[in-house]
Amino acid sequence: MGWPGSKGGQCCPICSQSFLGTSLKYHIKTCARQALANLTNCQFCGRPVRKEDQVEHSLRCKTRCRKESKEPGALAETLKGYQEKANALRVALSKIESGELGSLDARGCFVCGVCGQQGLGLAQIVGHEEVCRQRLSQEGRVPVADKEGQDGGEDPFSVQLAEEMAALRQDILSSCGEAAADAGEKLVLCLDRLRDIVRNACFREEKKYRRLRLSNETFAE
Ligand SMILES: [Zn+2]
Ligand SMILES: [Zn+2]
Ligand SMILES: [Zn+2]
Repeated sequence: MGWPGSKGGQCCPICSQSFLGTSLKYHIKTCARQALANLTNCQFCGRPVRKEDQVEHSLRCKTRCRKESKEPGALAETLKGYQEKANALRVALSKIESGELGSLDARGCFVCGVCGQQGLGLAQIVGHEEVCRQRLSQEGRVPVADKEGQDGGEDPFSVQLAEEMAALRQDILSSCGEAAADAGEKLVLCLDRLRDIVRNACFREEKKYRRLRLSNETFAE
């Protein structure tokens, strides 16, 4: 598969047409809906095929499946793989249609909503984000899916941060002395604000924060 969009513009990850400017953003939902409507499963291998290709595919597939069925174990493995891929594809398409998925890089490949990795294909994005999300929650961070209403400081990272902030506050206050205690309080207030910004920059998924993360290697993982 080539990259028709490589001379500029983006290439639709579903139909491979290339688009200029922001038109892919508007095209992709419609394209996903059409692809879903136009997709059927091959009765022999279970792979997703376009309705107009079904007859031709079945003819080829039938003879091939028959040949391979002399080794039932191997065939079952192959078919299982096809099925998983077909499911991943359907999940990706319906997520695109619903608008859940749709961050694209300059070429029109998917961008992981968790780690920001670019260049992911239609067949990879769902599995990749899943793994990324699991990794994040294992590390005790706030997973992207739960971004709303999770600022209660319950996760280990927040607790650790709160302790460090408290220690820092003490440090500042004691080194400022009585006379400068007022200025010290103001500084602490500043640091609180700064902490919120850094937290947002690290974990929020709004566009501006993501952009900040991608543009600043301090936030790279
Ligand atoms: Zn398309
Ligand atoms: Zn088939
Ligand atoms: Zn990722």
